[in-house]
Amino acid sequence: MTFSVHGLAVSRGVAIGRAVIVAASRVDVAHYLISPDEVEAEIERLRRARAVVVEDILRVQRSLAELGPNDAHPELTALLDVHLMLLQDEQLTSGVKHWLVERHYNAEWALTTQLEVISRQFDEMEDPYLRERKADLEQVVDRMLRAMRGQAAPIAAPAVAAERASKDEPLVLIAHDLSPADMLQFKQSVFAGFVTDVGGKTSHTAIVARSMDIPAVVGARSASHLIRQDDWVVIDGDAGVVVVDPSPIVLAEYGFKQRQVEMEREKLSRLKHTPAVTLDGQKIELLANIEQPNDTVAALKAGAMGVGLFRSEFLFMGRSGQLPDEEEQYQAYRRAIEGMQGLPVTIRTVDVGADKPLDRGAPRSDDHLNPALGLRAIRWSLADPAMFLAQLRAILRAAAHGPVNLLIPMLAHGSEIRQTLALVQRAREQLDAAGVPHGPVKLGAMIEVPAAALTIPLFLRHFDFLSIGTNDLIQYTLAIDRADEAVSHLYDPLHPAVLQLVASTIAQAREQGKGVSVCGEMAGDVTLTRLLLGMGLRSFSMHPSQILAVKQQILRSDTVKLAGWAQEVLRADDPAALLAD
Ligand code: PEP
Ligand code: MG
Repeated sequence: MTFSVHGLAVSRGVAIGRAVIVAASRVDVAHYLISPDEVEAEIERLRRARAVVVEDILRVQRSLAELGPNDAHPELTALLDVHLMLLQDEQLTSGVKHWLVERHYNAEWALTTQLEVISRQFDEMEDPYLRERKADLEQVVDRMLRAMRGQAAPIAAPAVAAERASKDEPLVLIAHDLSPADMLQFKQSVFAGFVTDVGGKTSHTAIVARSMDIPAVVGARSASHLIRQDDWVVIDGDAGVVVVDPSPIVLAEYGFKQRQVEMEREKLSRLKHTPAVTLDGQKIELLANIEQPNDTVAALKAGAMGVGLFRSEFLFMGRSGQLPDEEEQYQAYRRAIEGMQGLPVTIRTVDVGADKPLDRGAPRSDDHLNPALGLRAIRWSLADPAMFLAQLRAILRAAAHGPVNLLIPMLAHGSEIRQTLALVQRAREQLDAAGVPHGPVKLGAMIEVPAAALTIPLFLRHFDFLSIGTNDLIQYTLAIDRADEAVSHLYDPLHPAVLQLVASTIAQAREQGKGVSVCGEMAGDVTLTRLLLGMGLRSFSMHPSQILAVKQQILRSDTVKLAGWAQEVLRADDPAALLAD
């Protein structure tokens, strides 16, 4: 039966594929496709894992028996019997085989997929005793996954998996929630699109989806419950709609739309070498936002003139608390700098916290009171000077290999500015003292807290350039959690207060002859390009996938005409109405 689920459109395009429902706790399980001749080997890995778990359980049972009748916990023995029974369960074993043989999922993926299928059946059971057996099944599967971790998989390279996926049926991922670190793992994955139950338009999960340039819908509420494993699904990333089990007519229509999006991309790709110059001759700088050193490939491919925002925190995520040391960071920054072949790279110091936890196990937003107002970004760095100094030294060392801008997130206080600058100086002195080569950097501050936007002269006195983080500036100006879909309708880049802060920041920086760019999602939104140009913005930083569409707008714009119009928009009670004209 066809039905649709509505959410927030976060990443453009249409994806059509079979649903893969992934429980939040199992996102870090490897997902790749195997070839038919690898099926037997994968079945063997499962058999071995099961044998290991069975042997473990039997060993515990034997030691319980040795304790004698007085200490032999009968409940535990009974529970272990249940686990042994579940391991032999026909529905589990035949189901897992089905995903391996028919869909070519790797062993871990097949196992967790079947767990999802059976879990849903347990959820629907009337009998509370039987319903509780779901937890036992999860424990058994977890033990098998752990046993498999020690065994080499026949293949593990995501690139190979991605290539194979394109030959098979496309797959789309449906999950309750995905952390930015999870998304990173899926970056080279087999999935053609994503749907999550939670998340806002500029949540970091949505941002990573956009950077991957694949259709995604977030905030789709109960999508992960309504959609079943293997359902055919259409993700309309432009409208924020997910169509489940579409009729042949609907499918044909979306197939047509998919081809149109392809053609549009093809057309835009011709602009790659066209300089971004407005009709009145203003040169506009188009920069890329990246998360990992390898993203520089996409940045250059899109014709970026540099990296305007390297979100360094992605190097820190998903490492079970083991932060990258100075050397590892240095190598990563160096790779990004060399990847850009002489073009400038703006490295932002670590910005974790709020909706970017270091690990999936780490406290998430909902475990804290107002995490967005807590210890994140520069506050986190200043709270751990040794960690911060290691990052600063790594960036300064990498700066010996090419032009680098050092960008500091979320500053609001004069005291934070002074501490940060003192630490940058100390990092330099430490490198000098150790005789380690390092290079010059331009120092920049992100303007993403209203307090900063209202004290721009202070920032201009201390920094070489400013970068406006509109994602957070909107969040903090309007008191809207950017990751919370419940208030996402109030998250408004065109709120007059936001526009005033953005416009006055641009104007003050330009007056002083200092560089200013926008690196939040507003920079990559083609509906806002003309307005930002009219406000005087000449430097935009965005995901590589958005650069050519923004360039197309720039080529059609006249900044002289736009300046007057932008002033009107800034005075309007309802700026959106003027943009629609
Ligand atoms: C922003 O806040 O606009 C920004 C670019 O930083 P992030 O999205 O990483 O918080
Ligand atoms: Mg920010």
